[in-house]
Amino acid sequence: MKFYKVEEDTSLGFTGRLDAVNKWCLPGVEPCPKCRLGGGVPWLAYPCVDLSGLPPQVLRKLKDPWPVPFEEFSRLRELVRPLAPSWALLEPGAQFGPYTGKGSGSFGGLFMQDPFALFLRRGALDELRAEGVRGLDACPVEIRFRGANPPELLQLQLQLQGRLHVDVRPSSWDSPCASCGRVSASWPKDILLDSASLPEDVDVFRHREGWATLIVTERFVEAVRRLDLGGVIFRELAVR
Ligand SMILES: [Zn+2]
Repeated sequence: MKFYKVEEDTSLGFTGRLDAVNKWCLPGVEPCPKCRLGGGVPWLAYPCVDLSGLPPQVLRKLKDPWPVPFEEFSRLRELVRPLAPSWALLEPGAQFGPYTGKGSGSFGGLFMQDPFALFLRRGALDELRAEGVRGLDACPVEIRFRGANPPELLQLQLQLQGRLHVDVRPSSWDSPCASCGRVSASWPKDILLDSASLPEDVDVFRHREGWATLIVTERFVEAVRRLDLGGVIFRELAVR
């Protein structure tokens, strides 16, 4: 089985843009006093997680990505955890709920404007499912579109799968900070996947270590080509 990285395709003339964010997020964390690592990233997205049942004063805090002390981050994370999938990584900046905001332009069957989030039209989702593509857990966006015939878009909620091959794994990952447990965010220029770590039961997923890297299988790519779904391109990844 071959594996591919998903990237935006700018060659087809689709003009679609979304000016939106997921409805809720975990805040970033203040820099660690020892290693100075802090902040958060919006790459881990769980659009099918509904936090609306949490108390209003908690939800207000889950709208603000501004860094908070680690203890406060941790408290909020424990409130979110029971509502998230058991496999979810809940890191600073993680996103929850529907992608919410404004949109405009024309969209292909698939849509990507940031490397870490993949959207698709309802029709494309149904067709891919009918082709037997697996791992298509998706929830509708809440986007106000200008103009007639707005697209019905959904955002994929992606499992975390796959690891880097040991030959390209940054050595800094082996020595996490003694105080906060974080490792530096280095990532190899040329990705080499560890074949033993790759899933056999899903055809689209997020790299477990590089959260901004979305990966699909050959089966996904072939289905997209058969269905002629535009909007993204696929770059084959090395596997060993
Ligand atoms: Zn630290």
